[in-house]
Amino acid sequence: MTALLTRPRIGGAPDAYRAYSAHNYWQIPQVERLSEEQRFAIDVVAKVLPFKTNNYVVDQLIDWDAVPDDPIFILNFPQADMLDPADFDAVARLLRAGAPSSQVDEVVDRIRHSLNPHPAGQLEHNVPTLEGVRLQGIQHKYPETVLFFPSNGQTCHAYCTFCFRWPQFVGMDGMKFAMREAELLVAYLREHPEASNVLFTGGDPLVMRTDRLALYIDALIEAKLPNLTTIRIGSKAMSYWPYRFLGEEGEELLALFRRVTDAGLHLALMAHINHPAELSTAAAREALERIRETGAQVRAQSPLMKNINDSSDAWAEMWAEEVRLGAIPYYMFVARDTGAKHYFEVPLVRAWEIFQDAYKRVPGLARTVRGPSMSAGPGKVCVLGPAQVGNERVLALNFLQGRNPDWVGRPFFAQYDEQATWLDELRPAFGEEKFFFEDELAGMFAQP
Ligand SMILES: *Cc1c(COP(=O)(O)O)cnc(C)c1O
Ligand code: SF4
Repeated sequence: MTALLTRPRIGGAPDAYRAYSAHNYWQIPQVERLSEEQRFAIDVVAKVLPFKTNNYVVDQLIDWDAVPDDPIFILNFPQADMLDPADFDAVARLLRAGAPSSQVDEVVDRIRHSLNPHPAGQLEHNVPTLEGVRLQGIQHKYPETVLFFPSNGQTCHAYCTFCFRWPQFVGMDGMKFAMREAELLVAYLREHPEASNVLFTGGDPLVMRTDRLALYIDALIEAKLPNLTTIRIGSKAMSYWPYRFLGEEGEELLALFRRVTDAGLHLALMAHINHPAELSTAAAREALERIRETGAQVRAQSPLMKNINDSSDAWAEMWAEEVRLGAIPYYMFVARDTGAKHYFEVPLVRAWEIFQDAYKRVPGLARTVRGPSMSAGPGKVCVLGPAQVGNERVLALNFLQGRNPDWVGRPFFAQYDEQATWLDELRPAFGEEKFFFEDELAGMFAQP
């Protein structure tokens, strides 16, 4: 089971970080292999969806012989089919005609707003207040876990083409979650003794310089909050720029990690790993080892994406390799209802088949993973799978996280539906009008 891990590599470790975006990607030597049409498609789609990659991804992870089908290529380079054909044509026509950028921006803005930039009520329902002030850099949906979006961490080492954090990157007006003050985070946690976990997220908080990140994390350590047990950092650095943890630059970050674990807090690096190839380089493996030496735990999670990792082989290999290298498989997510969803979406039943076929093949130590899970308005809903109950074919579901914690762990049932790709497309089974949580949820959303 190593086929997917093999990558032809170009050169050794890069001597410096080099970013590529819509403005300079033609400088990538391998891009010469793309046709003119392919390059134009990148130009068009990159106007709407964020595009940024780097020399490590280009030289060490992408298999250019397999382009355009290579999953790591698709993960990083915009693809024509990610836009609705009418939207694609609208932008393409303007670019071909050399239209002024103000005109292009107007069309691009309209398309972006049509792509559901804030799914699952992120903006309306999860932003808490402290003494009457809305804390834009914090989201608090599940009692025990507070999400923190440090303002310096709202970008990424390289952008995934599916990234649902894109409103942060593309600077849509008034849509950017950002917060500078670590003190506000500490004050909020003091007021919320139920919150034992803080999850630093973004973007990618490890894009931030270590001394900046340390401002936030040291403030948490020094506050000695009695309720705080765990700091998590969600990051793709191990996959996209493992040198963040290596050499001199890495030492400073690892020292920060050690301060967290020395303070008696659990530190978890939530590694975003979408494909087994990302674990195949010497640099990624060494990074994982260095992180674990600090006492931090590495947990791995990823969405299931058509054209990237929609095969049970990819997942079985990924989970087995994670366990072998010392990372704990954590979540398989269902692609969210945002951005280029149609390009990546996998129906729920198909997602379950892929999950089950991979899950049954890996040892118990890899079955720490949960999914396929939808991060939806009411909570994280896991597809347990199809079942026959009496005369009815149903889809069994279960809350892994709920806006009301009491919903968690209570199996419930939807009508079997092979096409549905998200919770809101499912209907309750057994002739019920509503799912058991719907009235309560409506009540919660009605509150100011
Ligand atoms: C997934 C998620 C969390 C963390 O949930 P765990 O089950 O504790 O990993 C917290 N907040 C939001 C909004 C999430 O989607
Ligand atoms: S690694 Fe995460 S934050 Fe970065 S682009 Fe991909 S999904 Fe977005």
